Amino acid sequence: MKTVAKFWKPLNGKVVCYLCPVGCELKDGQVGSCGVRVNHGGKLYTYTYGSLVSAAIDPVEKKPLFHFYPGHLTLTIATPGCNLHCRGCQNWEISQVPKGEVFRDSFFEETFVDPELIVEKAIETGCRSISYSYSDPTIFAEYMIDVAKRAKERGLLNIMVTAGYINYDPLEEIDRYMDAYSIDLKFFSDEAYRKYSKGRLQPVLETIEFLFSRGKWIELTTLIVPKFLTEDQVRGIARWIGERIAPWVPWHLSRFFPHYKATDLPPTPVEDLERAYLIGKEEGLEYVYVGNLFGNRYESTYCPRCGDVVIGRAGYRITRLNLKGGACGSCGYEIKGRF
Ligand code: SF4
Repeated sequence: MKTVAKFWKPLNGKVVCYLCPVGCELKDGQVGSCGVRVNHGGKLYTYTYGSLVSAAIDPVEKKPLFHFYPGHLTLTIATPGCNLHCRGCQNWEISQVPKGEVFRDSFFEETFVDPELIVEKAIETGCRSISYSYSDPTIFAEYMIDVAKRAKERGLLNIMVTAGYINYDPLEEIDRYMDAYSIDLKFFSDEAYRKYSKGRLQPVLETIEFLFSRGKWIELTTLIVPKFLTEDQVRGIARWIGERIAPWVPWHLSRFFPHYKATDLPPTPVEDLERAYLIGKEEGLEYVYVGNLFGNRYESTYCPRCGDVVIGRAGYRITRLNLKGGACGSCGYEIKGRF
């Protein structure tokens, strides 16, 4: 649905969108880099408010969040568009909107879903939270805020799954309603960010530091993209998490599969994933996970002190829960998270 956007200002006959670090300056009729925010007559509009293109009920482990009320169901929603343009995006059909596609009137009519209905459906289907994901929810900030506000009033939790490419002011407003974040830290090189995602590293690091400083539950994910993510970068990320954030923040290492414009790259070799896991452990991180690799032993949570399995997993399914009051059931070590 077309509606006046938030997070913009007029400047010299243009509008400047300050929702994300791309910082589009748009002339009348121009579309932002995300493909869904447009200057019309000196006002910025979002064309996809409530234009739902994806909705699914998932275990929270799929976000991935492993330390946030494990095993609960979350209703996950998305609208089209994205402010990054990753070569290997697995959701490119909804994130990389062909210019003009969202502007068909019929499209808005077919896909608009009222925020109240999202919340009702989440409650009706036994979900404990709503997740904003698939495309980057940054570009549907207005809708996310409206859904999340109502969800909170009804006792649901809110989860933002994001690449973290967003500015402080909008993030501060969104954060009033969020309970947890799953954040991609894709690379540890500005060049790799630019080449693979058309983004930059520094704003992502700042987002992570900002949200952590506000005491929200965060988990980080790095897709191990062959050729773009070097071993030095993997170590750099692990060290940065340990030193600048906290060694107990969970770090998910996800297996890459070729999609979209990255079909020339191979799937991540299993040994590279396990090597990245070991680098994380060498750098002192307490909870490192391997994902997109069903049945791998590093899907489970091990107690950093006694080494016993605290939460056993097979894919997104929990096979063992050895937690007592937020601590390891075997030795009593505090396991960080929301349980
Ligand atoms: S949200 Fe879209 S329009 Fe706004 S600055 Fe980012 S890419 Fe540009």
